[in-house]
Amino acid sequence: MSIFEDVLLNARSAVDAVGKKAGKVIDVSKLKLAAADLKSEITHKYQILGRVVFEESATNKDYSKNKAELIGKIEELRSELDSVNELIAKASNKKKCASCGTYNPKNSQFCSKCGEKLVSDEEERVLTDDMIDFTEDNFEDDELL
Ligand SMILES: [Zn+2]
Repeated sequence: MSIFEDVLLNARSAVDAVGKKAGKVIDVSKLKLAAADLKSEITHKYQILGRVVFEESATNKDYSKNKAELIGKIEELRSELDSVNELIAKASNKKKCASCGTYNPKNSQFCSKCGEKLVSDEEERVLTDDMIDFTEDNFEDDELL
């Protein structure tokens, strides 16, 4: 192989490595944006719900249908937010406690809050690979930073 080919090859793998890294950063920040959006939408729905409750007691009208609708929507948004938060935790290498939902550092064996045993890295990795297409290398890199 000529020196030129060798340099070209190295440059290519450097670009690939940067691309993978950038891809991960974008994905996590996208998830964080989605979480922020959901949070503000939930807050907004709570405000409307508060207003409906106020109107109901001020006017003596029945708004139970509106309330049920809003509560259903809020529950939907909250479970959506839960799954986004879960993806963020997985992408940033945190382990979620199956018992209390606390996010723990990757190396933890037990939950810092309730003491529950946490799933092993291998189990976690299988779950992560299903949902987000990050390579193992990227995860290891983060540990060093
Ligand atoms: Zn726990």
